[in-house]
Amino acid sequence: TTSETSTTNASTTNDQYFVRAKASIPGGVNSPVRAYGSVGGTPRFLVSANGPYVTDAEGREYVDLVASWGPAILGHAHPTVVSAVQEAAARGLSFGASTPGETELAELVRSRVSVGDQAPIEKIRMVSTGTEATMTAIRLARGYTGRDLLVKFAGHYHGHSDSLLAEAGSGLATLALPGSAGITAETAAQTIVLPYNDLDAVRKAFDENSERIAAVIVEAAAANMGVLAPDPGFNKALSEITTQQGALLIVDEVLTGFRVGPAGWWGLEASGAVPGGIGWKPDLVTFGKVIGGGMPLAALGGRAEIMDYLAPLGPVYQAGTLSGNPVAVAAGIATLQLADASVYARIDEVAALVARETSAALSREGVAHSVQNAGSLFSFSFTHGAPRDYDDVRAQEAFRYPPFFHAMLDAGVNLPPSVFEAWFLTAAHDDRAVGRILEALPGAARAAAA
Ligand code: PLP
Repeated sequence: TTSETSTTNASTTNDQYFVRAKASIPGGVNSPVRAYGSVGGTPRFLVSANGPYVTDAEGREYVDLVASWGPAILGHAHPTVVSAVQEAAARGLSFGASTPGETELAELVRSRVSVGDQAPIEKIRMVSTGTEATMTAIRLARGYTGRDLLVKFAGHYHGHSDSLLAEAGSGLATLALPGSAGITAETAAQTIVLPYNDLDAVRKAFDENSERIAAVIVEAAAANMGVLAPDPGFNKALSEITTQQGALLIVDEVLTGFRVGPAGWWGLEASGAVPGGIGWKPDLVTFGKVIGGGMPLAALGGRAEIMDYLAPLGPVYQAGTLSGNPVAVAAGIATLQLADASVYARIDEVAALVARETSAALSREGVAHSVQNAGSLFSFSFTHGAPRDYDDVRAQEAFRYPPFFHAMLDAGVNLPPSVFEAWFLTAAHDDRAVGRILEALPGAARAAAA
């Protein structure tokens, strides 16, 4: 066809695609950070991805450190996952009925997210996005406790439902927005936002709102204001406080789940791999990203007694035409089955190497920075000391990131287009891909220093 709106064309540039996209899509994007607002320039329009690489519309290949913002833990388009998707698709795209695969995935998640005799996921409900998972978890917590207020932490991102956008990280941090227009004052007033890692603030909130707080929601390890691991024992203390106070603890593992380890961040704490976290369990956990292996799939799970408050057993409603979609479930099962200990070992190894070398390159150019990690997730802040909360992160010399980002991009490395996002490695980042990252670093560090 010769219709100018119908097909991709090898000679069309990223600039041309962006102009055309902006005419039909607000800002030219379907998710704000993709617009490159905080780094400037033209977003790369990607046409394919394989292993550790993505390829743009101009035919240029980049080593990818976005990994679809987490899901591509095995690398892009892993052949086994792609086959599982193709086979599932050939059997039908969506039925709006129960399928055997959903139970298989539920059982897989239940058995993986357990450490010793601790198994926090007794039941699990599948949805399509992380936003739905956290939104449903909050409704469930309110329905179960009969209370109305919610506590979240500044800089934590839990998706874009109304009650969770107050002082959220991710795109809101990138765009320096305190929240969103279109959220009623009544809804906003039901969310109490506290500084991260501040247990006194949590105790005070419970003192001031006796028997009104339904839940505390926390990223298992914060990774949407850059990466900020919790202080040792912070999550455990939240669990103790919420239990004492008759509230629920919702641990959001949308980003960390099945990425930082086979049983997510909770698994690292519960097994003693990170300090301070033995002997506690979340009431509810949300999953997304890796659980769907790159397809739209997310979930919430937790204690059966709470989960059974969901319809059809209980009074809390949740539903979805595409919930538990068979093609997405097939991708999730294949991905989790492949994500074995060797996958996590490889990602840990390359993440540590890239973090160390990036830090060294910045230091050689005299650029003040902090490198923060939570397992294999890491990020950099242009700060003079190690940040502990959102205020610290926001006070950084963020202007150093755009030149750093663009120098890496020009050298063929695709970083997250925001200083507030984690860098994501995959098990497919082999020595060649890592070598290309390392080669690009000195020039980028010089650009950051300028
Ligand atoms: N929770 C966390 C911790 C996230 O990182 C994200 C997305 O980045 C979400 C929830 C929302 O997930 P989704 O983008 O699938 O709606």
